[in-house]
Amino acid sequence: MKVTFMGTAGARFMVAKQLAASGGLYIEDGDARVSLDPGPGAIVQYAKRKVDLTKLDAIVISHRHLDHCGDVNVMVEAMTEGGFRHRGRLFCPSDALDDDPVVLRYLRNFPEEVVRLQPETDYNVNGLSFTTSPRHRHQVETFGFRFGDRLGWVTDSEYYDGIAEHHRAEVMIIHLVLMQCRAGLPHLCLDDAERIIRDAKPRLAVLTHYGMTVWRAHPWEIAADLTQRLGTEVKAARDGMVLEI
Ligand SMILES: [Zn+2]
Repeated sequence: MKVTFMGTAGARFMVAKQLAASGGLYIEDGDARVSLDPGPGAIVQYAKRKVDLTKLDAIVISHRHLDHCGDVNVMVEAMTEGGFRHRGRLFCPSDALDDDPVVLRYLRNFPEEVVRLQPETDYNVNGLSFTTSPRHRHQVETFGFRFGDRLGWVTDSEYYDGIAEHHRAEVMIIHLVLMQCRAGLPHLCLDDAERIIRDAKPRLAVLTHYGMTVWRAHPWEIAADLTQRLGTEVKAARDGMVLEI
């Protein structure tokens, strides 16, 4: 499995200033090619890295916040060659489709299927299987994901008991938005990320989706410090980084 970081920025200020890109993740595994959380500018990042989006099998949206789905519509058009080829699938929570939808109605019949994600459910895209977590604690309907035992993707959430277990895998990608935990901001902070890594003990933990406070604290320094203290390898993702799992 190959994972490319099409962006490492999270939350509004980092995305607005584009201090890092906000294109989400791209997974290639066997015959499967999947785009995860194509945020604002994702299309630019995919083009820059010469990914042929007409070969994309699926787009997966963890939740409807713009930093996770800003480019979902243009990505659907790219995947379906402007709607002329009925192909590919879109997976997203129901509230990305219902009132105040982030997926425009005119292109919903372009993909072969639009799948409404359910909690703790297995899905398969061209041989790549993945499972949703229970619903995360976030302002909107949000899921995390496990791709078998190989990859866990801990998306936006407040910390909850079981979050480590539900994403436990050889490699775990963790959205680290805040340095300090703050009541009323349902995002993972540094203490939460540390607790998840301690509990799940992956071979490798990768931090990404940095909020401004994390960015200012230098993610690579945070990762080095965690590696030393936890005895688990922790990496800070950077734009364009490729991970072979
Ligand atoms: Zn969010």
